[in-house]
Amino acid sequence: MGRAIDITGQGFGRLVALLMTGHSQSGNALWLCQCDCGNQIVTDSNHLRHGLVRSCGCLRRERSRENILTNPKTLARMKCGSPTPYDPEKPIRVNHL
Ligand SMILES: [Zn+2]
Repeated sequence: MGRAIDITGQGFGRLVALLMTGHSQSGNALWLCQCDCGNQIVTDSNHLRHGLVRSCGCLRRERSRENILTNPKTLARMKCGSPTPYDPEKPIRVNHL
């Protein structure tokens, strides 16, 4: 496999490689990475360099939250205590406080 590539300080999405912690079973270098959100993860350098891992997982969580918020059906369901079921024919009423 040759020498591990030094990616110290390089950014991959939200992650910045801090230090190499060892090798995975497949022989790839494992890197400790700092995520923008404050979490640290250890991941395969190959995954970083190929863009497979770009956050500690928070990016995916935020994306799914965005999907929920842009989906009117889910949005209607999230209105707690709403006595009327969601009706796709009616526009969503938004309370401006
Ligand atoms: Zn994160």
